[in-house]
Amino acid sequence: MNETSLRDFFDRIGPWPTKTVAILGVGPGDPGLITVKGALRLHEADVILYDMGHCPPDIWTLIKPEAEQVFMGRVNDGPRMKSNEVADLILPHYQAGRRVAILKSGDPIVFNRGERDALALAAKGMGFEVVPAPTSALAAASYAGIPVTDRRSIDAVSLAIGKPTRDAGIADPDFAAMAHTGTLAVYMGEQNVDGICRILTDAKLKSSTPVAMVENATRPSQRVVRGDLSCMAATVAGAKISKPALLFFGQAANADEQLRWFEHRPLSGQRVLITRAKQQASRTVGLFRSLGAEVVEAPTVKIDWVAGSDPKNAALTEAVAAIGEYDWLILTSANAVDVLLSNLRDVRQLAGVKIAVVGCGTQRRLREAHIRADAVPAQSHTESLAKHLGEETLQGKRCLLLRSDLANELLPKMLEGLGAVCDNLVAYYTRSTDTIAQETVDDLKAKKIQWATFTSPWTFNNFIALLGEHANDILTDLKLASMGPSTSVAIRRSGQQPTAEARQHDADGLVQSVLDRHLAT
Ligand code: SAH
Repeated sequence: MNETSLRDFFDRIGPWPTKTVAILGVGPGDPGLITVKGALRLHEADVILYDMGHCPPDIWTLIKPEAEQVFMGRVNDGPRMKSNEVADLILPHYQAGRRVAILKSGDPIVFNRGERDALALAAKGMGFEVVPAPTSALAAASYAGIPVTDRRSIDAVSLAIGKPTRDAGIADPDFAAMAHTGTLAVYMGEQNVDGICRILTDAKLKSSTPVAMVENATRPSQRVVRGDLSCMAATVAGAKISKPALLFFGQAANADEQLRWFEHRPLSGQRVLITRAKQQASRTVGLFRSLGAEVVEAPTVKIDWVAGSDPKNAALTEAVAAIGEYDWLILTSANAVDVLLSNLRDVRQLAGVKIAVVGCGTQRRLREAHIRADAVPAQSHTESLAKHLGEETLQGKRCLLLRSDLANELLPKMLEGLGAVCDNLVAYYTRSTDTIAQETVDDLKAKKIQWATFTSPWTFNNFIALLGEHANDILTDLKLASMGPSTSVAIRRSGQQPTAEARQHDADGLVQSVLDRHLAT
C-alpha cells in the first residue's frame, strides 16, 4: 500500500463524530493490536481517560502533545472510580466540544465495565461510540498457539471471570459446564488457579485435561506455563506468575507445538537495550520487535533542537533562507534533514543546490521528502565524504554543513583542505541524559539484558558515565552492538570489544548485525 492509498483508507474511516465520547479498546499489550479506527481516534483525542496499570506505553506516541491525560485507576488498591463519576468528569469537556476517549485494556466491554460507562454517559445526555479491540484471551490464544476452536474437535469457547470474590448477588460461573463443552478461558484468575482446578476436578473433568496459563500475553515478556488439571496449581505456584495472566482449559491448551510462532521468532528471549535518543529510536525498536526481541529503552542522549532566541537559531534561519546561494549542502544525520525541512519555506529553494549525504538513515529521510542526494559516499564516514567529493568538485565552492554541536572539526577542515568555503552550523544539540532507570540498571546487573546497542560514540560514553561504579560489572557478558567504526573505536577505548558491528550504518544494519551474530552462536 502506498502512502496515498493509506491516506484514502484512513479518510474513509472518517473523523471523530461530533458530540461523541469514544470508549476505546487498546488491545492486550502489543501496540500493533489496537484497531486502525482506535489509533485514529486516539490521535485526534483532546482528553484521554485511562485506568489501566498496563497501558501499552507505545500507544502514547499516537496522542497529540497537548492532549490532556487523566489517570482514573486505583492507587494502592484504593477505590475504583465509578461510571457515573467518570461521566461527571467528562461532562464539562463534552459540553466544551472536546473529543474525549476512555481507554480500556483489551476490548472495552469484555470484563471492563465499558457498558456501564456507556450507560452513565447516556444517562447524562452524552453520545458515545464503542471501538472494540482484540480481547486478551483471544489474542493470547493466537500468540501462544492455543487454537480455542479447532475445527476437528472443539466447537465452543467460553470466556469466564475467575476472581474468587465477586459482586454480591452474582453466582460464580459454571466452569465445569463450560470446560465440558469446549475451551474455557478464564480472566482474572491469577489468584485462584487452585480453586478453579479443584472445581473442575470435582466436576469430573479428566485430570489429564491440558491447562495453560499465559502471562503478559502479546507483550515481548509473554510467558506460557503448561500443565494439566492435576498439576497446574503447583506448576503455577512454582513459576511465580505475575499479573496479568489468563488460564485456558481444554485440548487447545496443549495443541501442536508448531503453532507457537511467538516463542520461535529469531530473537525471542533476547532483551536488547536501545541507548539512542528517543526521537530516533522508533525504527530500531520496531525492527528488533518484529524479530521477537524485547526492547528496553534507555536513551543516554537526547536531541534538543536549535530554537527560539538562541543566536545559533538566527544563523540557521538565515543560512536556510539563503540556501540557494550555496553550491553544496552537507547532511550527516536524519536530524539534520528534519531541521532543514522544518526551516525550509519552499522546497524549490533547493533547486540549484547539490546535496551530499552521509548515512543510509539520512538518505532515507531525505528520500521520504522526495529529495534525491547528489553524492552519497559508499562508506558512511566523514573522510569518505570528503574523498568522494574531491578537489575538482569542491574548489571554490560554498558548502553548508548542518550538524550536531558535538560534531568534530574534521569534516569542515577536510572540505576546506580541498578548496571549499564552509559554513559549519549547529542544527541541533546532542545532550547527555542524566539518569538511567533504576529498574534497567538492576536488570543489567542481574544479566537480564543480553544486548546493548550503540549508534554513536556519545551513546556509548554516556552509557558508561551513567552506570558509574557499576559499569565494569555490567559490561561483563553484555553483548555490545556498534553502528560503525567510530562507535567501535569508543567501545575499544574503554577496554571492551564490540560483539557485532553494523556493515550498513543505520538502524537496519545495526539490527541485522545483532541477528547475524545471534544466529551464528
Ligand atoms: N477488557 C480486557 C479484560 C480486562 S480484565 C480484555 O478484553 O482483555 C483484566 C484481566 O484480563 C486480567 O486479570 C487478565 O486475566 C486479563 N488480561 C488482560 N491483559 C492481559 C494480557 N496482556 N495477558 C494476559 N492476561 C491479560
